Amino acid sequence: MKILLVDDTKTDRLIMSTYLSKMGHDVVLAENGVQAVSTYKEVMPDLLVMDVIMPEMDGYEAAQNIRKMSDEWIPIIFLSARIKSEDIIKGIEAGGDDYLTKPIDHRVLAAKMKAMQRIAEMRHKLIDATSELQSVNKELKELVNLDGLTRLANRRYLDEFLKKEISRAIRHKLPITVILADVDHFKTYNDNYGHLAGDDCLKAIAHALKQVCRRPTDLVARYGGEEFAIILPDTQVENSMFMAEKLRSVIEALGVTHDYSTTSNVVTMSLGVCSLVPEINSSTEELLKKADDALYSAKKAGRNQAKSAS
Ligand code: GH3
Ligand code: MG
Ligand code: MG
Repeated sequence: MKILLVDDTKTDRLIMSTYLSKMGHDVVLAENGVQAVSTYKEVMPDLLVMDVIMPEMDGYEAAQNIRKMSDEWIPIIFLSARIKSEDIIKGIEAGGDDYLTKPIDHRVLAAKMKAMQRIAEMRHKLIDATSELQSVNKELKELVNLDGLTRLANRRYLDEFLKKEISRAIRHKLPITVILADVDHFKTYNDNYGHLAGDDCLKAIAHALKQVCRRPTDLVARYGGEEFAIILPDTQVENSMFMAEKLRSVIEALGVTHDYSTTSNVVTMSLGVCSLVPEINSSTEELLKKADDALYSAKKAGRNQAKSAS
């Protein structure tokens, strides 16, 4: 264990640290309460063994300071020549856990160190388990918002995001753009090239769409099936059509062969664009519906194009 030993008497420090080192512990020394507090922060020991009566700051006060300053719990053992009931109460109130009487009986010391070692091991296991749990939790939180195939944001996240962005746009009277993009003739692509090739195609499309929307505030999400939603906060109507055209052309430029499309010989996309400054009662459903209507007119007008909502 890494033990911080605090005692103002040099000989006591020497005796104790010799005992502890012989037991195989790593001992760091401090001479008073003030030093104990600052050294504690530096070394983060597994155990604190501290004299009660010391100049400047006594052991009780140092223990109180350490408990206040750190969220992590480590055992604190007080050293004292005479231990009365009041001392025990005071020590525990100050954040201490045990007492050792001076002069030290090395057999008692060895036994207590054994017990402390068990506590230290449990504490380390707990710390490891907690950090593992935290990282798994973080991963899970991210997964909940991600689409498994494309690694884009999923519908769930899109709904949350869009709701927040609409509120923000209302508050600041800013425009917001919602684009719905749907792969053209994707059923025949799947039917002829297979579902796995279809999946690969969706992944490539997702990647390409993300490359176009590079502003940190933009969001590209999988809306469902072979449909994608692109949210561009703070984007003017004119710019939104420019972006939609860029998205369309980047998919065409991927050059994914589609011999069964009646629109082109490569995979293409149709897009519906809704760009507006939302009103106080605007909703996610309303904006998505407008984008979807525009997408429908793009399909009707011959596909592989973007249409703006009227
Ligand atoms: P349109 O040009 O009118 O959009 O025609 P379409 O064939 O693209 O539209 P339709 O809605 O008829 O077909 C969509 C197809 O997308 C059918 C479905 O099998 C396929 N699809 C949806 N999700 C996935 C997926 O995750 N992987 C694969 N491979 N295919 C998918
Ligand atoms: Mg579709
Ligand atoms: Mg389609």
